[in-house]
Amino acid sequence: MKSIIVVSGTPGVGKTTLAKLLAKRLNFNYIHIGELAKRIGAVIGYDKERKADIIDVEKVSKYLAGLKPDKEIIADTHVVEAIPPEKVKKVIVLRLDPRKLYERLSERGYPADKIAENVESEVLGTCYIDSVKHFGSDKVAQIDVTEKSIEELIEIASRIITENLRYNEDIDWAEKLGNNLAELLTKIARARFHR
Ligand code: ADP
Ligand code: MG
Repeated sequence: MKSIIVVSGTPGVGKTTLAKLLAKRLNFNYIHIGELAKRIGAVIGYDKERKADIIDVEKVSKYLAGLKPDKEIIADTHVVEAIPPEKVKKVIVLRLDPRKLYERLSERGYPADKIAENVESEVLGTCYIDSVKHFGSDKVAQIDVTEKSIEELIEIASRIITENLRYNEDIDWAEKLGNNLAELLTKIARARFHR
């Protein structure tokens, strides 16, 4: 049975906030993949530069593939390789204006390197591209969360899941932001190299 809904996106876009509320609304189980990895002993190291756990994606994927859940699962992660594609019903990738992402990550107190890396990933659409590669484009939906309320997001995500709604916003931050994006990227590059 295809029992997993993946909520993905660059760190800071709002995955955990939405995924938890969505699980509550739909009466699904919520799984934070990073926490699950810790619980099942699938954390195999620590990346000091990135200040992030290194996850054994095969181990997590095998674990999830072997689950016989009583309910559907909402999996919260930006590491899509940790999710077994054959179990996945839908993937919802959240996208956020890189300027807003920059603000959020700065507020979180992330180091300059980590801010730069994540903002650049968002600009490139890395999570979306990885999701399409790993799960196939038919399963992947993409939402620009920038101007949407959390209620709107829950509504759209619920329809994607329960009504099989096809939802795929065309998102190209370079095209949309032009010079504003160039300015942001220059700022984060400076912060990175002038420490
Ligand atoms: P992620 O799990 O993708 O890293 P979080 O859910 O932790 O992101 O959200 C990052 C920050 O953005 C948090 O401070 C959260 O309160 C805020 N946030 C998340 N979603 C929204 C939203 N829809 N509107 C405004 N702020 C949000
Ligand atoms: Mg989170």
